[in-house]
Amino acid sequence: MKYIDFIDTEKIENLVKNTHEDRERVEEILAKSLNKEALNLEETAALIAVKSEDLLEEIFNTARTLKKQIYGNRIVLFAPLYVGNYCINDCRYCGFRKSAKTTVRKTLTEQELKNEIISLENQGHKRLILVYGESPIYSPEYIAQTVRTCYETKSGNGEIRRVNINAAPLDIEGYKVVKAAGIGTFQVFQETYHRETYAAMHPSGTMKGDYMWRLSAMDRAFEGGIDDMGIGALFGLYDWRFEVLGLVSHAIHLKETFGVGPHTISFPRMQPANDIDIPLPWKVSDDDFKKLVAILRLAVPYTGLIMTARENKGIRDALMQFGVSQIDAGTHLEIGGYSEQKEKGSQTLSKEQFQVGDTRSLDEVICELLRNDFIPSFCTSCYRMGRTGEHFMEFAIPGFIGNFCSPNAILTLAEYLEDYAGEETRKAGFEQIDRELARISDPVRKAAVIKRLESVKEGKRDLHF
Ligand code: SAM
Ligand code: SF4
Repeated sequence: MKYIDFIDTEKIENLVKNTHEDRERVEEILAKSLNKEALNLEETAALIAVKSEDLLEEIFNTARTLKKQIYGNRIVLFAPLYVGNYCINDCRYCGFRKSAKTTVRKTLTEQELKNEIISLENQGHKRLILVYGESPIYSPEYIAQTVRTCYETKSGNGEIRRVNINAAPLDIEGYKVVKAAGIGTFQVFQETYHRETYAAMHPSGTMKGDYMWRLSAMDRAFEGGIDDMGIGALFGLYDWRFEVLGLVSHAIHLKETFGVGPHTISFPRMQPANDIDIPLPWKVSDDDFKKLVAILRLAVPYTGLIMTARENKGIRDALMQFGVSQIDAGTHLEIGGYSEQKEKGSQTLSKEQFQVGDTRSLDEVICELLRNDFIPSFCTSCYRMGRTGEHFMEFAIPGFIGNFCSPNAILTLAEYLEDYAGEETRKAGFEQIDRELARISDPVRKAAVIKRLESVKEGKRDLHF
């Protein structure tokens, strides 16, 4: 199979260098975004070029409006679960890289994996992303087995209903094997779309040193039957403006080639990690970070945006409104960290890939979301009902959110409140549910939700639409 190099470095460099703020054009582009149309590279570059405070404010306001209009106020919650950190690569920014001498290496045993899953279920989690280093140990068959273990391991009312993957790129046969285990999204981050930086960060002779193998990872995933694809860039390795245009190029490529854009876009920022000491001349400031999140929302309006606990509470709370649709919470990155019952906030850097910025518990994060009029959701309905590409449905089908997403958010939140919430969260949660019910316009759907809510209170679970 021949892969297309869809990153036009020269064009992107030119756009970054030679696009200047143009008020009238920006107004037109924002109107196009509000009309739910994805932006091309030139239009995205025009937003990137904005510097004037008032025009920037307009970008933020438009991103906020778009998020509200399309996705409403739901935030989907998940947890990352690190399965193993053996790695054959030597990515210069990562605490798991093979030359990191003081990193403690570990792969969870089957029993340890079950313990981690049970701890996560006992917090209330329903959606996981499993994370692995790159190693022959973590073969497609091995990954598939860990996925099955997640689905099979249950604790009380707790169960994992969706497992996503963040692992090294596979070949088409490999993707088929993990798909058959019932995965949701398969994520591979390009890290940097800038070839020169890519080569500097990923030594040649390592698997990850092959830029095209990684750039084509999602093409092979699609060929292997996975149409929920997660892309991302690690911000801080190169100019954030280049990376945003790289991500948009990737989204356009997937949409044009396969008819399906990325299911999610991630935009991790570089964090301190064990045994890492590299110069970071491209560190992204909080202001630029806010700008890039808003621009991604506007440029690829049909896609879910993921903001992880790498960021601290302040940034996460501030950026949520600009279009983020998924966050992790109660996150522990140490291998085995969920079942270790560590003291809150404590981290052992030698056992984790990088430092976590938001160390709040799941319950604390949920309580804060509720305080800010978000509805935390553990919904996993779409892919289980065969409705893959759920973001696209939310985006494209009128009434989809009112009929499916909001009701499912209400029901999964109610399960959480009944089974796991602290007192304050429980009170705030049921008040939020009342407000959400009032927002459902179809009386028949509303009655059906109220009926199912009563069943949840009586102990029934997993009553999704
Ligand atoms: N090993 C696989 C790979 O590299 O694709 C699986 C994913 S890796 C464990 C997860 C992601 O963490 C990487 O793709 C990278 O973007 C991110 N990452 C690595 N080092 C980081 C750091 N120091 N700070 C923030 N994110 C980092
Ligand atoms: Fe290995 Fe992934 Fe870390 Fe690179 S980013 S060293 S591939 S775990």
